Formats: sequence, structure tokens, C-alpha cells
Amino acid sequence: MDKYIKICPQCGSTDIGVPKAGMDLRFTIPDHCRNCDFQGIFPEIDPSGIDRFRKEIENHKEDKFK
Ligand SMILES: [Zn+2]
Repeated sequence: MDKYIKICPQCGSTDIGVPKAGMDLRFTIPDHCRNCDFQGIFPEIDPSGIDRFRKEIENHKEDKFK
């Protein structure tokens, strides 16, 4: 029940990774989306809510997701 995964607020991908460079970059660059290269804050959601999340992205394409 407490297993949340990060999801991209831009494209809905769950293929999120930290920069390979590591070292200092890890502290200055947050996770990034391997699909669309979005960098920033990734919401963590229940895996069962992925489909719903992606639909919300469709509905809110004009808005900034927060
Ligand atoms: Zn993305």
C-alpha cells in the first residue's frame, strides 16, 4: 500500500531516472524523465492511479501541473 512510484507530470511516463553523471550533479539536478527529458519535481503516486494520472494530464494540458 505504501509503494509509490514517481511519474512525469509532463508526459505521464514512469521511466524516471537520476542523472548518470552522479556526484555533484545529483544534488543540483533532480530526477528527470527519460521519455521527455523533463526535470523537476515528480509526484509520487500509487501505481494503480497511473492511468488516471495520465488522463488528468490530457485534461490539463494547458495548465501547469502542480
Ligand atoms: Zn516525461
